[in-house]
Amino acid sequence: MTQKEAKVTKGKKDNYKVLALKYRPDNFDDLIGQEVLVRTITNAIKTNRIANAFLLTGIRGVGKTTTARIISRVLNCVGKDGKGGATASPCGVCVNCIEIKEDRHPDVLEMDAASHTGVDDIREIIDNSRYLPTTARYKIYIIDEVHMLSKNAFNALLKTLEEPPAHVKFIFATTEIRKIPVTILSRCQRFDLRRIDNEILVPFLQKVSEKEGAAVDKEAIEMIAHASEGSVRDSLSLLDQAISHSGDKITAKMAQDMLGLADKGKIIDIFDFIAKGDIENALSALKDLYDASADPVLVLNDLLEFSYIVTKLKIIPNLNATGFIPENEFKMAKEIAEKLDIPYLTRCWQMLLKGLNEAKTAPNTFNAVEMIMIRLAHLSNLPSPAALIKKIQNSDSPPPTGGGSRAGGSYSMQSAQHAYQPQSMPQNEAEGEPVAFINSFEELVELFKINKEVLIHSWLVSDASLISFKQGRLELSLTAEIPSDFPQRVSGHLRNWTGQNWVVVASNKAGSPSLLQQKINEEKNLKKELSKHPNVNKILELFPGAYISKVEEK
Ligand SMILES: [Zn+2]
Repeated sequence: MTQKEAKVTKGKKDNYKVLALKYRPDNFDDLIGQEVLVRTITNAIKTNRIANAFLLTGIRGVGKTTTARIISRVLNCVGKDGKGGATASPCGVCVNCIEIKEDRHPDVLEMDAASHTGVDDIREIIDNSRYLPTTARYKIYIIDEVHMLSKNAFNALLKTLEEPPAHVKFIFATTEIRKIPVTILSRCQRFDLRRIDNEILVPFLQKVSEKEGAAVDKEAIEMIAHASEGSVRDSLSLLDQAISHSGDKITAKMAQDMLGLADKGKIIDIFDFIAKGDIENALSALKDLYDASADPVLVLNDLLEFSYIVTKLKIIPNLNATGFIPENEFKMAKEIAEKLDIPYLTRCWQMLLKGLNEAKTAPNTFNAVEMIMIRLAHLSNLPSPAALIKKIQNSDSPPPTGGGSRAGGSYSMQSAQHAYQPQSMPQNEAEGEPVAFINSFEELVELFKINKEVLIHSWLVSDASLISFKQGRLELSLTAEIPSDFPQRVSGHLRNWTGQNWVVVASNKAGSPSLLQQKINEEKNLKKELSKHPNVNKILELFPGAYISKVEEK
């Protein structure tokens, strides 16, 4: 920070102060995005139930130390007249407020546990804590990175936490809450400092820019907010950088260059091309980004992030855009989400995630990223198995021409093996009574199967060609293999099962192909039709050597 401060100060007014320090909040009103903490401590002061120890946890740069100092002022402010008590709105002008702000109050001691991990350091604090504060109401020990303390140090601290002197308060800060012993945790009032949502951060940065007299494009602010990942301090540092690099007018392009970001529009284009299976344009867009010195791995990372946004929008179409991602990106993400389905999006995410790791270890990152995109583009051409079946079953479009005998254009996959299921099952036991009307030759044949007349059934299927069929009369052309009493046997069974006399005639006229032959033809045609279906076609193209081996109804 000091180095940058020096650099930034050059050529600026003498009283220039880095924004992160200038806009560092020193009271609850200016502390943005931490409402829970503010409300809780405000109430604690009102009801005079102030905790002995506070534990502030959260990511780096989220404002733990700043918050600790504000709490110190809140607890120690004596007001303008020097007579006030602890207050949620410290005056900022009393000696305690000023000295704490300037980091020189004798009773507010900050310690970095990272460099003071030993039990002796803690003992020193404990010894010191016995003495009353010199000027403040409370002696306050702020211990940063408290998880770094040794086990013995924690134990020593625990004793004091169990019976703390009334004039002592501890404020612990940590990025790694899980490393804090439960015994300590249970004696602290814990606050999880949240990352600041862009929804809050963007307007805040806009206000700061205005105050600084810099015209910063909203899009640039959004980029800065996004890049700072919820840290106010980082966002201010970035804004500072942008202003010092670019002067008082900052465009999205400038911010993008400064942040080393790939052009988001291009990223979205790539995602869209991939989803459409347009690999050529996807690769060319990647090349453009690469030529503009974007890191291919970051491009992949951006794609991953964008696929997350699209998926989220798919699931929650009414997702509030504000502060989530820039408005125009949001609009595009929404449009893309409408076109894609969840299975594709989740597979896309998986492949990108896997690809990201691959690309990081690949000898040539650019090539690796290209390969991942090619794979992804092919993924888009492959419907999920479920979607494929659904599509084939529901498709209203006729099959490609020349696709066989199916009339009406319905691409139904009703399979041949179910084609001759009788619509009404005759009751076997109700012999002698007409219980069933046989609607077709196929039904008739099925009847023999149901009644376990296996041999006759197989003859009917493979060796009989239908010449004519109506209830009570059947005319067939039979092959030479069939015994001469076949018509009588068929007739006898039919009479038994239907309660009606059946005339079965063996004729030497030419009939239609046997059921077996029909089934074979049908399957052949189905395969032919399927192979012409665009989706199946794509699968066959994608997997050279693949063929349709079996058509199954689902
Ligand atoms: Zn004060």
